[in-house]
Amino acid sequence: MQAITILGSTGSIGVSTLDVIRRHPDRFQVVALTANQDVNRMLEQCREFQPRYAVMANESASQELQQAIHNAGLQCEVLSGNDGLVEVASLAEVDSIMAAIVGAAGLLPTLAAARAGKRVLLANKEALVMSGHLFMQAVREHGAELLPIDSEHNAIFQSMPAGYRTGTKAAGVRRILLTASGGPFRDAASEDLASVTPAQAVAHPNWSMGRKISVDSATMMNKGLELIEACWLFDVTPDEIEVVIHRQSVIHSMVDYTDGSVLAQMGNPDMRTPIAHAMAWPERIESGVEPLDMFSVGRLDFEQPDLKKFPCLRLAFEAARLGGTASAVLNAANEVAVDAFLDEKLGFTGIADVIESTMKAIPSQQADSLEVVLAADEQSRNFARGIIEGSTDAAI
Ligand code: NAD
Ligand code: MG
Repeated sequence: MQAITILGSTGSIGVSTLDVIRRHPDRFQVVALTANQDVNRMLEQCREFQPRYAVMANESASQELQQAIHNAGLQCEVLSGNDGLVEVASLAEVDSIMAAIVGAAGLLPTLAAARAGKRVLLANKEALVMSGHLFMQAVREHGAELLPIDSEHNAIFQSMPAGYRTGTKAAGVRRILLTASGGPFRDAASEDLASVTPAQAVAHPNWSMGRKISVDSATMMNKGLELIEACWLFDVTPDEIEVVIHRQSVIHSMVDYTDGSVLAQMGNPDMRTPIAHAMAWPERIESGVEPLDMFSVGRLDFEQPDLKKFPCLRLAFEAARLGGTASAVLNAANEVAVDAFLDEKLGFTGIADVIESTMKAIPSQQADSLEVVLAADEQSRNFARGIIEGSTDAAI
């Protein structure tokens, strides 16, 4: 029996994880669930999965949940805030952590799980983007096991040589081909992007996901964050990664070997495949995903990305090459800009402008302590907010 904590259980990845668990009650036991504000969904999940702990992000949501749990006659300890998250990420009785909180809010508990030597199933790419050096160091020093959930990274992991462990250099690999759907605006004219609305941006053609990652896919910042994530997970430089637009999202990424072999992992675009793969690794279990019908797929197309039309991807390449705190600065400015876009306080093309101005203003430093990373994150957020609130021409 594998005991598991799900950080971010009410989100898109969290719900898919629980769906896989539901299919294997003999294999997985839910010890803790966590959420931001959604008390109703958390109560439903507690009813079904009977965790020992439930954590809400703030005190008032946790009090509300506690009352609801009491009224429902359930046995569950309700905790709150970062302390609660860190506690359930590092419980002695837990084997694996599904890290599925969105954004920087997931960093501390995910890092705590690595420091507690757990099997970390990593969906929360922002944690690795912010503090890849510290995170990989924690994984190594504490004997944690890091398995990627992001579909591309999971595909790369599956296409690596037998016995491959994340954080190590794979022998015989020439480069990584990181696939991207291109998002909802892959065929839009550049001049039409300025007037894109939040509803248009979150309507992804192939994947159903949370709002933040959906906007990141529309700007292609998601691929940029994934580029940085891949550098850390597979110990490669940005120049050993090629981004390939593959609109069908059937190949989830590829590894190109020095002998000319290219290995790809394929499947329907459904996150339950990488989730089930990582949860059961090195075994294989049923995930609920429909078998891939090659005849309805019909064809596979590949194109180069357009870095002029999608400057966020160019900025992420720049941050990856700069190293240090540059990617934490990029990530923080992006989170602020995406929030402002979703609140209709910033135009779609303003997202890249805010990030670029913030990166120019905040020089990269060595990211060798958590304090330095968190300070860069905060400085970047404040700067980006200043641009947006000041409504400078460059940003809107
Ligand atoms: P989501 O918005 O659907 O869910 C986020 C979860 O985190 C929710 O449970 C929410 O309650 C919780 N949360 C949000 N803010 C929080 C805070 N401040 N404190 C504590 N908890 C908080 O997001 P998602 O689409 O499930 O994505 C989760 C992570 O997985 C992201 O990092 C995303 O990039 C990554 N990811 C998602 C997908 C996907 O298909 N959805 C694919 C690959 C990677
Ligand atoms: Mg992905």
